[in-house]
Amino acid sequence: MASEAHAKAPPGGAPLCNDEGRVLFYERVGRYFYDDSEVVAFEAPLPCITCGKPLSAGALIDGRAICAPQRAIVAKRRGHEDPAPEDDVPGVKQRFSQAFNSPKKAVFVTPSAAYVITAVRPVSPLPDDLTWRTAGTNEAYGELYGLIFGQPLETPALYVEFGQNGSAEFALTESSAMLLRCGGTRVETIDTGRVREILAAGEAVGLDGLRRFNSLRGRSLRGDALKEAEESELLDLLRRIVAAGIDPASPPNPDEGAYAIAGTILKAAA
Ligand SMILES: [Zn+2]
Repeated sequence: MASEAHAKAPPGGAPLCNDEGRVLFYERVGRYFYDDSEVVAFEAPLPCITCGKPLSAGALIDGRAICAPQRAIVAKRRGHEDPAPEDDVPGVKQRFSQAFNSPKKAVFVTPSAAYVITAVRPVSPLPDDLTWRTAGTNEAYGELYGLIFGQPLETPALYVEFGQNGSAEFALTESSAMLLRCGGTRVETIDTGRVREILAAGEAVGLDGLRRFNSLRGRSLRGDALKEAEESELLDLLRRIVAAGIDPASPPNPDEGAYAIAGTILKAAA
């Protein structure tokens, strides 16, 4: 069981989670946003409450051990809009409420680049290969998706769109054709080629053209009688979408994950 006496963890011996994705997150992003002074060495190994790995050192919260990567994700701490530590008033305890696992926040890591959307305040200067945005705006997601889908995907990659679920699996993407999107209740697979196809179709007819196509096509599939002008508009849009490289048997569909991603990129570029 936990001992009351805890020595500081040895330098360079920061404990890491078993989850490969969390290790990558921590090494490339998380550690620049996490004050690890609370990480201590344990007298006897304790299991991490998230990954289960026996830890010889970690954060000890209410008697339960957490490895540093997991603590860096879920700890509530100072946000970029909160007063800086140097402005703290001695003796006045402040409470902060920012964590990585918040809606609209995200992290993306490849061997050569890292991108993070988080309101958490960094604790040290960020490396040159890490881009930080504070809010999950359409512009930020347009930039992020451009980084992910604008060129062949470098692997291994980690992509997390955070929600409230702090213990979501962080799976590594090993194939450049299939991006694993983590952070939700399950890991989702995104066909990167399909995103590029819909993007090309959207560039050919515009975002409004894609929407119009889906509206007319939906009505046609439901058996609504289209006017002659609507019929020819639908055929013209289909012709241009197919010319952009889409299989006519599987036109862009708002119900597929790739559609929302391509739409966000188009919106940000507009
Ligand atoms: Zn762990």
